[in-house]
Amino acid sequence: MKVPLLDLKGQYAEIREEVMSAVEEVCASQYFILGPKVEQLESEMATYCGAGYSVGVSSGSDALIIALMAECVGPGDEVITTPFSFFATCGAIVRVGAKPVFVDIQPGTFNIDPELIEKKITPKTKAIIPVHLYGQCAEMGRIMEIAEKHNLIVIEDAAQAIGAEYEGQRAGSIGHYGCFSFFPSKNLGAFGDGGAVTTNDEEKYKLLKIFRNHGSEPKYYHKFIGGNFRLDALQAAILSVKLKKLDSWSAARQRNAAEYRSIFSSSPVAKQVQLPIKAEHSTRHVYNQFCILLPKGTRDTVKQGLLDAGVGVDVYYPVPLHMQECFSSLGHKKGDMPVSEDAAARIMALPIFPESTREQREYVVSTITDILQKI
Ligand SMILES: *Cc1c(COP(=O)(O)O)cnc(C)c1O
Repeated sequence: MKVPLLDLKGQYAEIREEVMSAVEEVCASQYFILGPKVEQLESEMATYCGAGYSVGVSSGSDALIIALMAECVGPGDEVITTPFSFFATCGAIVRVGAKPVFVDIQPGTFNIDPELIEKKITPKTKAIIPVHLYGQCAEMGRIMEIAEKHNLIVIEDAAQAIGAEYEGQRAGSIGHYGCFSFFPSKNLGAFGDGGAVTTNDEEKYKLLKIFRNHGSEPKYYHKFIGGNFRLDALQAAILSVKLKKLDSWSAARQRNAAEYRSIFSSSPVAKQVQLPIKAEHSTRHVYNQFCILLPKGTRDTVKQGLLDAGVGVDVYYPVPLHMQECFSSLGHKKGDMPVSEDAAARIMALPIFPESTREQREYVVSTITDILQKI
């Protein structure tokens, strides 16, 4: 049996006609950059995320960069974040000239451990970037409490978590900014690159719009240096079509996760495989990924065995950010972030896309069981 890690063709078949007519409409208008389609998506995104405002941008990575720019975070500043995320979380901090300061994750949820944050706060700390990894919100209540106490800005990296909820509040509506990615493999994926920033603050919203367009306001007058971080109308039009389906896709992801849990529970290797922990505060987990932890030293063998058996799996992420070569000047060494390092060595993502089937999940679990029993 073939089980791809992600197959977007089924989803496309479901929405093809609507997408094509949205694309045709944009082409007929010849209005390609920002404009009414982008404004429509921005308003839909704000509503969907329970935030006051949303600004469409060129990618999730750029969403993080302009949120930092809007707060004038730069050289001499420190930004606290997790070492267990996609590169862009930390890349954005360094791109604006600030210094990333890492705080290890909680075992099982893989999100930043709020109890370790205060120790890392210095007079230079400007912001915290928690990441809602794999579609589950970080512990935002505690994080906001710490941020308020120390007067810090909180930028939620919600790239993997559109529609996720922390105690009933949507990702991107809790911190000062929420950053979203429309990379095709995210739960709401464009037909190319795209992203959005949400905020509840009107002043911040105005700044984001200025920074998105070279810092220009009014046109050709530059008080700030921004960049070209614009979203284009074709992507926005396609995203508006897809946003209407997002809740049903998220529900399918949740059903798929529940099925994995039930199928694993009756596997003879159930005790050896640690399934992702759903935190109590996590009232809506949207499962951009379903990542399991394998016994020490077995991950690469299990991964290769699955690939050989036709199952698409991958490792998010094999090298924690503090161990990346490009950040070696930060002076970290192995052992500095033990929970992240352990996760990086043992984690593996299984196929969980909405259209995948129960038979496919049974095959994935039985293949993992066979491999582990032979090790
Ligand atoms: C995908 C992702 C990003 C970057 O988004 P792009 O749209 O690919 O630039 C940032 N942070 C996290 C956690 C992501 O998963």
